[in-house]
Amino acid sequence: MESRYGKSFLVFKSLSLSEPIAKDYRSGFVALIGRPNVGKSTLLNQCLGEKVAITSPVAQTTRNRLRAILTTKTAQLILVDTPGIHKPHHLLGERLVQTAKSSIGEVDVVLLILEANNRPGKGDAFIVNLLKKYEVPVIVVLNKSDLLNEENYAVAEKEYSNFLNNPNWSIHRCSAIQGEGCSELIEKISIQLPNGPLLYPPEMVCDQPEKILLAELIREQVLINTREEVPHSVAVNIDRIEDIKRPSKKLGSIGVTAILATILVERKSQKAILIGKGGRMLRLIGQEARLQMQKLIDGPVYLECFVKVVPDWRRKPARLLELGYGSTE
Ligand code: GDP
Ligand code: MG
Repeated sequence: MESRYGKSFLVFKSLSLSEPIAKDYRSGFVALIGRPNVGKSTLLNQCLGEKVAITSPVAQTTRNRLRAILTTKTAQLILVDTPGIHKPHHLLGERLVQTAKSSIGEVDVVLLILEANNRPGKGDAFIVNLLKKYEVPVIVVLNKSDLLNEENYAVAEKEYSNFLNNPNWSIHRCSAIQGEGCSELIEKISIQLPNGPLLYPPEMVCDQPEKILLAELIREQVLINTREEVPHSVAVNIDRIEDIKRPSKKLGSIGVTAILATILVERKSQKAILIGKGGRMLRLIGQEARLQMQKLIDGPVYLECFVKVVPDWRRKPARLLELGYGSTE
């Protein structure tokens, strides 16, 4: 049977524009730039109101460049989530930074995300210097404002303002997790975009193939549940997606999406941690990922995960390409 999850399967959201597109409609690309863990993916998800980018307390979770599409009555924003910019230590790290850098030159607006609960650091300075080389308008988002009281927030904002030392870069207060400042931010971005038509159908929210989103949901659970024990040497490949029928007492049979996935690690010891005592860890990862997948697919999911050791996959360009971390992206 032909699966409906082909390469170009996209996630749709029912969003109807009741009025026709106006002449002064705006559209364009917006890059989210910032150190790892400042809340880029959380902000993107909050602005879209659903889970597209994966977030986790562990840094460097976003590997593939993800474009999320936000269509409002006045503008269409194509938000490009980038991996956090940091000093690369290996081939995969280099690719991640390349991706983030190449995003800056291609977009209409850059959102520079900073953390209110941390002082400006070397990592931020690296990004600010990088941005100064481009002429693109920058909106500075001071995120995680929920972690500070009014007084401390004011101190942090002053400190960041001195650090940025640029009258064109106004600071926007935000809590991506609580949604504070997000609608105003969308408004602020919209007026910076050039006039233009819809670039994507208004009901589309993400341009990544569903396979990648599903793989990321598993990887997210690996990172959450194993924390520091299994570092970032984990990749997930979705081997098969199939619509199957399962017997049901009430309905006779129900449609289920069966997903077969392989989790790749670099070392045997990592495989042992991922599987856990009596397979407990892998079961937990599978269960949690399955729940997230059911939300994404909006239907029952049957998930089976295998763990495979591929030594040094991060250093092998062919392997990186196969897993979707393309060299030209
Ligand atoms: P990214 O690496 O920049 O994409 O960061 P993520 O979006 O993955 O977020 C990293 C961590 O910061 C996660 O644990 C988020 O829940 C947390 N986080 C993100 N935004 C906020 C916020 O506004 N307030 C608080 N308290 N935590 C946040
Ligand atoms: Mg991210």
